Amino acid sequence: MNLEPYTFVFTGKNITFAQNNGEALWWGIAADKIEQKDMLLEKIEQLLREVSELTAANAEEIEALRLKYLSKKGEITALMADFRDVAADQKKAVGMKLNELKQTATRKINELKEQCETAETATDDIDLTRTAYPTPLGTRHPLNIVRNRIVDIFSRMGFTLADGPEVEDDLHVFTKMNFAPDHPARDMQDTFFVDNHSADVTKNIILRSHTSSVQARVMETTQPPIRIICPGRVYRNEAITARAHCFFHQIEGLYIDRNVSFADLKQVMLMFAQEMFGAETKIRLRPSYFPFTEPSAEMDISCHICGGKGCGFCKHTGWVEILGCGMVDPNVLEACGIDSKVYSGYAFGLGVERITNLKYQVSDLRMFSENDVRFLDEFVSAG
Ligand SMILES: [Zn+2]
Repeated sequence: MNLEPYTFVFTGKNITFAQNNGEALWWGIAADKIEQKDMLLEKIEQLLREVSELTAANAEEIEALRLKYLSKKGEITALMADFRDVAADQKKAVGMKLNELKQTATRKINELKEQCETAETATDDIDLTRTAYPTPLGTRHPLNIVRNRIVDIFSRMGFTLADGPEVEDDLHVFTKMNFAPDHPARDMQDTFFVDNHSADVTKNIILRSHTSSVQARVMETTQPPIRIICPGRVYRNEAITARAHCFFHQIEGLYIDRNVSFADLKQVMLMFAQEMFGAETKIRLRPSYFPFTEPSAEMDISCHICGGKGCGFCKHTGWVEILGCGMVDPNVLEACGIDSKVYSGYAFGLGVERITNLKYQVSDLRMFSENDVRFLDEFVSAG
C-alpha cells in the first residue's frame, strides 16, 4: 500500500481519517495498525530516555537493571511481542527504533559495569611510589671469593699467576715432582687415569691430583727468580662424602731464587695467615713429609673461633691445620732443569675448600658443587 499521497488527520483515539487532496476518506482498518505502531513508538521513546539516564551504585543494581530491561521477561523483550502486531510496511521503521533501544540499553549497562569495575580497582591498595621489583643478581661462589682473596694477598707479595692443563701427563704430575715409580699416589685407587701405559708410567695421562704440575711446567721453561701461585681444580679418586670429594681446588705457591731459606717461607706464611684470618693469628709448623719438599711441614693457625683457647671447632687444641709447605727438594729442581747448587726455593699448597670452611664454617663439602641458590645467597655480602 502506498501511503505517500495521503495526509493523515487523527481526530480521536479510535477514529482515523485519511485525506487525499481535500477529499476525506474513511480508513478504519489502517487506523488500528497506525495506532498500534504509534503507541509502540511512544513506548520505545520513553524507554530510550529511561535507559540513557540509568545509574547504579554497585554490581547488584546493574544486574537488576539488566533483568528489568534485557532479560527474557524484561521490558524491551516484551516490546518484541507487540512488534509482531505492527503492520508489515511499518515493521522496518519500528524495528529500527526497537533495535536502537536494545543497543542503547545494552551499551548503557555495559558502561555502568565498566565504571563499577574501574571504581573497584581504584580503591585497591596500590602504592605508586614503591620502587620496582629488584632484579635478582647472582653472587660469587664462596670458593671464588676465597680464591680471589688468597690470590690478592700473594699478588701483593710479588707472586704472579700461573696456569696449566687439568688433563696432564704423569711426567709433570708425579715424575718431575720426585715421586718414586712405585709411589702409592700413582695407584688407580687414588688417581683418575685417562690413558694408561703400564710399561712406562711417565707416559700415563691422568687428571692432575695436585697443581704442582703447573710448577713443573713453569720451571721447565723459566729460569729463576720464579715467584708464582697456581690456583686450579684437582681430582682424586675419593668417595664423595661431607668431608671428601672427587674434585677440589688448590692453590700452590713456588718461590725459587738464590739464597731462599726456610725463614723466608715462614715469614710469608705468617703474613698470609694474618692477612687471611686477622692480625692476631699465630702459626705453628709441624715436621711432615712430601716427595717434592725437604724439609717439609704442615702448618697450623691459632683457632680463629676461640683465639687459641680451645673449642669444639679446633677439637680443643687451639690450632687448626691449613696447609702443607717446605723447601723444594733439589731433585725437583734438577728434574726441571734448574741448578740446585745455585738456586733454592720453597713451595706451599693449600686447599681452597679447607680455607673456605675455616672462614665460613661450611659443614658439608658437597654444598660447594650442588648449586643450591639458597646456599650461594648466604655469600651475597661476602663477595
Ligand atoms: Zn677453637
